[in-house]
Amino acid sequence: MESIAGNLAAIRQRIDAACVKTGRDPAAVRLVAVSKTKPATMIREAFEAGQLDFGESYVQEFLEKENDPRLKNLPLRWHFIGHLQSNKVRQIIGKVALIHGIDRLSTAEELSRRAVQHDICVDYLIEVNTSGEASKYGVKPEDLAKNAQSFFSLPNIVLRGLMTIASPDPALARQEFRVLKNLLDSLRATANDPSQLTELSMGMSQDFEEAVAEGATLIRVGTAIFGWR
Ligand SMILES: *Cc1c(COP(=O)(O)O)cnc(C)c1O
Repeated sequence: MESIAGNLAAIRQRIDAACVKTGRDPAAVRLVAVSKTKPATMIREAFEAGQLDFGESYVQEFLEKENDPRLKNLPLRWHFIGHLQSNKVRQIIGKVALIHGIDRLSTAEELSRRAVQHDICVDYLIEVNTSGEASKYGVKPEDLAKNAQSFFSLPNIVLRGLMTIASPDPALARQEFRVLKNLLDSLRATANDPSQLTELSMGMSQDFEEAVAEGATLIRVGTAIFGWR
């Protein structure tokens, strides 16, 4: 196993190479280091290597890390990338830079209600089930357009884009990334303010180069940075 700093540098290089190959600006791809199940010491090590964006999947674990004295005063940007239940919204609101996994209107409504209460504005992404696998969370692609105006109308929360977890097979994954990109383009066409709707959160350790080639703006990489879980 390489060092965390070495892994981060290698991934950054691969992102840059995938951008050059497809004519994209490397600065337009943000790496979210997925630190779930990994200790604060490893997050600290990644931070010292220049990493600012971290992804967590479990509310309790996230809250412990967010409060950890070893991380508390660092300018980290936390991303909540797990499945978020309505009854957990109040625990994380105001503590994360971006919520990636909103997969139903009722959760977005709860998020909006709490954001109004706290007098803050919250950025979020809708998770889409692009693979059609029954085991995966996410809005069905065909339901997205139907519900878009309801999502857009909620106060104090801003839909910034879409997120997906692709199939394990990289060839299938690439098609699913393309589907997500097309869905974002259609959504932008119906939005009052498309300038806010710019993010595509897609690609993990085994398929982030395909995702970058298809337009990912946020990639979520865990294993390739921190090792096996
Ligand atoms: C765990 C996780 C990742 C990271 O996966 P790796 O294969 O370890 O890179 C990315 N996205 C989500 C939603 C995850 O739960």
